[in-house]
Amino acid sequence: MKKIFIALFLLSTFSAFAQKGLKLHQKAIVIDTHGDILSDQIKSGIDVGQRQQGGNFDLVRAREGGLDGQVFSVWSDASGDFALANRQIDSLDALIRRHPDMIAKVRTAAELKAAVRKGKLAAMIGVEGGHMIEDRLDNLNALAERGMIYMTLTWNNSTTWSSSAFEETFKRDSLKQLGLTELGKQVIRRMNDLGVIVDLSHVGESTLYDAINASTKPVMASHSSAYAFNTHQRNLKDDQIRAIAKTGGVVFVNFYSGFIDSTYSRKQMQFNSAHKDELAQLTQKYNSRSKASAEINQKYRQELEDMRAPLSLLIDHIDYMVKLAGADHVGLGADYDGAESYPKGLDDVSKYPLITGELLNRGYSKKDVKKILGGNFIRLLKANGR
Ligand SMILES: [Zn+2]
Repeated sequence: MKKIFIALFLLSTFSAFAQKGLKLHQKAIVIDTHGDILSDQIKSGIDVGQRQQGGNFDLVRAREGGLDGQVFSVWSDASGDFALANRQIDSLDALIRRHPDMIAKVRTAAELKAAVRKGKLAAMIGVEGGHMIEDRLDNLNALAERGMIYMTLTWNNSTTWSSSAFEETFKRDSLKQLGLTELGKQVIRRMNDLGVIVDLSHVGESTLYDAINASTKPVMASHSSAYAFNTHQRNLKDDQIRAIAKTGGVVFVNFYSGFIDSTYSRKQMQFNSAHKDELAQLTQKYNSRSKASAEINQKYRQELEDMRAPLSLLIDHIDYMVKLAGADHVGLGADYDGAESYPKGLDDVSKYPLITGELLNRGYSKKDVKKILGGNFIRLLKANGR
């Protein structure tokens, strides 16, 4: 299957160096640990088995990008519950039933490799937001039973048993507790027993260290970038990155322009204020803010294009973490379909070869590139008993 993608890519790529990169990309197992397409799929009813015009993910573009494994995020804001998590898993199962030749659900490293050998995308489930277990360990069991391979302890909202980065930063005084409660520690122990990886993206610093102390297995951050480049509460400080690595864990770098580029939020504010009046008029005309904003984004697409972070900056984040913690502890967690802007060139899941090329360009060995693209994730799965 991958031969088709390579032939297509070669048509648009001429340097021998890029070809060398493509060969490696073809051989490597490429895994993204955080994609948000499921919640969109439920809302719009699109079939991502077919090529889509918008969005960042579909099975056709995944194949073109040499993507071998995708962790599908089961996400909800604070209002979401256990039932919603199950509906999102239903929608992934339905996608797999519609396209059994292109995608298969996997729960272990061996199943993942078997799916890849058959040319299928290995689909996994990550539940983003511990609030969806509704404080019940039996709900945790049930989600693990349905294939959850990691759970992000919090989203931006804290749970009754763990505090989030957002609330530790902005609502610290109103938090009932910082870090993990006794129930929180029980959740971690149960996750360890079930082989569900503890995901520390979105959690506050107190929770991060409590969870690392409570976990007997290597942990992860499924979609987090480096604070050293941009002091955003969603990014990880050097000590946090080292602490995750010390468990044998992995930080999967988030691609979102707003996390990797410290100048992005200022540019975004300027864009919003420049088009504020027009947006208000269109919102009134259509009686729909989302329709109005889609029109604004289309009309001023060049401005949005110019706001995107440079690809080199994403590679800087990867390189920084590798230098800090080692090549065994870094991977890719794109957050596609979860944000509005990604680095230039990285439009969607078909563009992963660009990252491989850039890493080789910087002198990375083939061995290290393979670890970053997917090898580290497979090691993490195994270390969690999968
Ligand atoms: Zn997230």
